[in-house]
Amino acid sequence: MSKSAAIGIDLGGTNCRGALVTQNGEVLGWRRFESDPASGLERFLQRLTGFCRELSAAAAEKGLTVIGVGCGAAGVIAPSGRILSSPNLPMLDQFDLQAYLQQQLKMPALVINDANAIAWGEACRGSGRDFESFLTMTLGTGVGGGLVLQRRLWHGVCGGAGEIGHLAVEAKGRSCGCGSHGCLEQYASGQGILQNYQGLIGLDTEVTIDSIAIAELARRGDPVALSAFEMAGRYLGQAIAGVVNLLNLEAVIFGGGLSNSLELLQPALKQELVQRAFAVNHRCLQLLQAQRGEEAGILGVADLVFDQLNQR
Ligand SMILES: [Zn+2]
Repeated sequence: MSKSAAIGIDLGGTNCRGALVTQNGEVLGWRRFESDPASGLERFLQRLTGFCRELSAAAAEKGLTVIGVGCGAAGVIAPSGRILSSPNLPMLDQFDLQAYLQQQLKMPALVINDANAIAWGEACRGSGRDFESFLTMTLGTGVGGGLVLQRRLWHGVCGGAGEIGHLAVEAKGRSCGCGSHGCLEQYASGQGILQNYQGLIGLDTEVTIDSIAIAELARRGDPVALSAFEMAGRYLGQAIAGVVNLLNLEAVIFGGGLSNSLELLQPALKQELVQRAFAVNHRCLQLLQAQRGEEAGILGVADLVFDQLNQR
């Protein structure tokens, strides 16, 4: 009998990236295609199914049998796999992608929120392996979150759970793409840190800089850059203190590009945690970096695809 693999795909606003994942977690043959949301739903679906068929053919060449396909996508996704709203891929709003893929590809399919996929990838194959209950936070363009409680992914009743990036940390703060204002994402994402920095040096100043360059400045001791990160760390600490007071988690695992600058965020984050969280809640909390980087999401969905089949 040939070995089996699942197709794991990360559906992003600019690119969709996918690979084959074997049952023991090997990731093989990364490929990608341009998402090009402007070209509309039909064209996108054609490219996506074509992509899955290409990966299936690549699997056959490697002597692997594809048993199913799992996708992680930004947005709110119902437990049924219907995409309720996707800010990066708006043509998929209200589309039942899971049922469509199942029907077109004639194999089991699964569609979940991308931050939840990352949380489950870290739970199975990364920094979350030794924990029962933890939160992953993806600090990148936005702030994503995924909750694992007692070794189960917590999607929420309607699929909207884990959105720590949209916890309000400033009652009258910056307005957010979600429609609210003062959300954590507006202060602690790459874009948020840039705004912190711009705010601190005065809005009149022309700034052509990004959060990576601000991190470099901070490492060299630039006081404004350090303050921009300190501000992000403080808001992160404030949000995480609330979350651990509610859930008493074992760990928060940080992924995404900004997690490489965790050392710049941690002092203010920890200070805030100690001040705001119950001692019992912050003492048993570990702060860790994610281990699986860009693989985490597809490892997560692939594991869920295998798991679904085993339960049949
Ligand atoms: Zn928001």
